[in-house]
Amino acid sequence: MDRPDSEFVFELAVCQWAERDWQPTHEGDAVLVARQLGTKRRRWDSIVLECDTTGLRRRAAFGPDAFDTDHLHVLRNAPAAWTYYRDALPDPGYPWRYVRESIHELADRDALETRKRGNRIEIRRKAPYPDWVNRIVAIENKPDLDASAARNLVPQLERDVALGLADEVWVATAATGDDVEPVLLTDMPAEAGVLTVDTDAGTAERVWQPRTLSPDEPGTRILERPDDGASGARFEYVDAEWKREKRLAIAERGYERGWRAYASTMRPDCRHFRLDRAQSGVFPYCDAKTCRPTQGECRGSCPAFEPEPPAWRSKGWPVEGGPGAAIKRLLDDRRRRQRPALPGER
Ligand code: SF4
Repeated sequence: MDRPDSEFVFELAVCQWAERDWQPTHEGDAVLVARQLGTKRRRWDSIVLECDTTGLRRRAAFGPDAFDTDHLHVLRNAPAAWTYYRDALPDPGYPWRYVRESIHELADRDALETRKRGNRIEIRRKAPYPDWVNRIVAIENKPDLDASAARNLVPQLERDVALGLADEVWVATAATGDDVEPVLLTDMPAEAGVLTVDTDAGTAERVWQPRTLSPDEPGTRILERPDDGASGARFEYVDAEWKREKRLAIAERGYERGWRAYASTMRPDCRHFRLDRAQSGVFPYCDAKTCRPTQGECRGSCPAFEPEPPAWRSKGWPVEGGPGAAIKRLLDDRRRRQRPALPGER
């Protein structure tokens, strides 16, 4: 008998629903879904990127891997004609030697042209780095939103709303079928939207619409909000430029990882691992435990782990490397399909 879905499985169901059915705000925008991304201080469960379709295709020319904020500083300011890099780029606010490192890394990735003139490094862009992200939507997944889970979640959502790094913040919880969904009786911030998700059917209903936040404006970071009723909260101002850089870096990581990267931390090379297709999507399944395992338990240290028998790899298995490697390739192919025009499409 299967146990109830874990948060991990719920999260995969939400990601797959969003990939199928998310309606972007701007008609015609493409949708990319990722999971477990954010900043050093805050990691969101699921992320929906609403992308300009032309920009997304142009982004693909830079390859499937993410660029970090230092790379983006160079790429976004790289000139069309050969220029000494210090003349071309705005002062980064950190030592120039780090900029030089980024330049060399970008050249190694074929994302930027470089040449030496005397002892000066000149740079030239290969293509303009496009504006490809229109909106970022953060979803917090809480399948079982009881009163204590709600109490823990509310301060996080209040921080998200105050910072305004995403365009929208949502809570996704399992649909109960009650006349009034219990989540609506909690003290969620009114700015956060609420989705109730039927993980068997693979559907979700928007039972509370979020307010659009202001990612282009400065935000407020809540550092401390004591609940003793006597002390004041501590805040920190966050400028719009920081938010713009962070948003793009998050989008870049979402572009690289998507939501299917779980295969790289689980053990698809275990003989009990397989992908199970349900109405709501495709999920990892463990035949030894007869359940959908979590990322935490499906590891080499799992007591039931058994490596694929070597014979599976040599007895004419249709794809090189055995079933585990084939599962990784399959998930990778599916991810690439959501990212049109990547070089070297298989
Ligand atoms: S036995 Fe353990 S390692 Fe193997 S698939 Fe199941 S959970 Fe994963």
